[in-house]
Amino acid sequence: MGIDLTDRTAVVTGGAAGIGRGIAIELAREGADIVVADLDDEPTLPEEKERGTTVEVVEEMGHEAEFVKTDVTDENQVSSLMDVAAEEFAGIDILVNNAGIAGRGKASETTLEFWNKVLAVNLTGPFLCAKHAIPYLVESDQGRIINISSQGSKRASGTNTAYCISKAGISHLTRSLAAELGSEGVNVNGIMPGPVRTEMMADVLDDPEQRQTYLDQMCVDYYGVPEDIGRVAVFLASEDSRYVTGHEVAAEGGWLVN
Ligand code: NAD
Repeated sequence: MGIDLTDRTAVVTGGAAGIGRGIAIELAREGADIVVADLDDEPTLPEEKERGTTVEVVEEMGHEAEFVKTDVTDENQVSSLMDVAAEEFAGIDILVNNAGIAGRGKASETTLEFWNKVLAVNLTGPFLCAKHAIPYLVESDQGRIINISSQGSKRASGTNTAYCISKAGISHLTRSLAAELGSEGVNVNGIMPGPVRTEMMADVLDDPEQRQTYLDQMCVDYYGVPEDIGRVAVFLASEDSRYVTGHEVAAEGGWLVN
């Protein structure tokens, strides 16, 4: 039998656009109901807008979906998100900590304000979401947390300092939460995407020179689409990954081995 996420409820942060949207749609394809937690429910890229909001796409697939306006850096909003999701969908089975922002710049040129903002969204947000989802996830018979890190968490970058450090932080959050929650029946894993053409990366990947620089560092000769990350999330959300916890899947076209 294939993967079946019927009757599972997934909260996907940053699910309105990009990778989060791809994850939400792929989880729904396998039967999950979806709560999209984002600053705005409007997608960003023209091709995403043409298809409709994530909620509309998931509903067209025959599953329930709801948008809950949430800033993941605000603990009150995050706490309320989890309560609303659990109440309306009779629990939470899967939390996908995907919301994130770019954080380019050298350390010597990074302001404290920018540093704090990148860390707040990319690291404190996932901590807050996990903290407030845990009481519901332990009630599930198959609780799952999936944290979206980056291949940048593994490689030092002199020009992307705040971002890479925030992603190294979320990678360790994955391991810490796995240690905390394994005995409670909640598995915690991560995904390290490589370049995926979303609003965050469109300017880079649409520039021929920059795109080639990326491709030269990878094993494959193409960059990913949000669904590539979504299919990995499906596995990590499913019963098939019951013996996998505390790890990260590198979905990055072989960047880290090249
Ligand atoms: P994106 O900009 O297309 O989407 C990010 C989504 O997060 C948006 O819908 C945005 O509104 C939401 N968001 C931002 N701040 C938020 C906040 N404070 N509260 C709630 N929602 C918020 O970006 P993306 O490329 O889809 O990135 C998704 C995740 O994947 C991020 O964590 C990013 O770091 C990671 N990632 C992306 C790539 C890539 O190449 N695109 C590579 C590696 C990792």
